[in-house]
Amino acid sequence: MEARPQFDILRAMRCFRIGLVMACSLLVGCFPTYSQKLRDGRPTAAAAPSGEPSKRVDLPWRVLGHSVQGRPIRAATIGTGPRRVLWVGGIHGDEREGRIATQELPAAFLAVEGASKRVSLTILEDVNPDGTELGTRGNANGVDLNRNYPAKNFKAERRYGMKPLSQPESRALHDFLLKGEFDLVIVAHSWRGDHFINFDGPARSIAELFSQRSGYAVRDSGDMSPTPGSLGSWVGRTLGKGILTLEYLRGRDAWAAWDETRAAILAVIVEGTSDARQEAAEDEPR
Ligand SMILES: [Zn+2]
Repeated sequence: MEARPQFDILRAMRCFRIGLVMACSLLVGCFPTYSQKLRDGRPTAAAAPSGEPSKRVDLPWRVLGHSVQGRPIRAATIGTGPRRVLWVGGIHGDEREGRIATQELPAAFLAVEGASKRVSLTILEDVNPDGTELGTRGNANGVDLNRNYPAKNFKAERRYGMKPLSQPESRALHDFLLKGEFDLVIVAHSWRGDHFINFDGPARSIAELFSQRSGYAVRDSGDMSPTPGSLGSWVGRTLGKGILTLEYLRGRDAWAAWDETRAAILAVIVEGTSDARQEAAEDEPR
């Protein structure tokens, strides 16, 4: 009878220990990869090169109102500085190229040294959550919210609303804007076949600063088709406050859109100065 090879228990234990150590090393090494949260296809936070802040900022959201279908319209303010800037992530539901900019802006802002002492930045995520969900320009009533503001040029039409502020989403932003006394409003949209920065009210030099940092051309509202009852018309011309309408290229990858405008957005938020006051005189009614 052939002797059965003797089971070498010591050797087996040694192999097991080596295996265990290797498995643990692998797990530790790979752990950050597994822990990454993938949002819109790109890893954030743990994937950021060392030295970059976490992109997961817990924002103190508050609900300003609700959409026709009952979705919350949320805003959050970060920073405590005297300059007050409002970023509106979207108003047309089929123009969501700025969604990554909206998502990434808080961390990028907080990473700029001294920014939170100079500026109070309010992020309004999306004025038209129903339109975003439905993929439509207007809200769930089919009204273009960006034609529903009490600007002097308001036009009563079914698709614009038969009177200003007939829609709950418009009212939520309207009331918030009047209370907030913002120095600058920036609102993200997208445009077929082009990208540019448009402004209304005393915001020409801020639009030029944006242009320098992004390569996006400045387009004056006076040279464009009329936009009756738009947020730009109401804030810029009726209230006389500076507003930038950021038009991304329609269909642009939202990460690429953020990458190419990140420096410009931060510049107009943080560096934007009191030029607006000097411009107020020049930009009187047009
Ligand atoms: Zn739009």
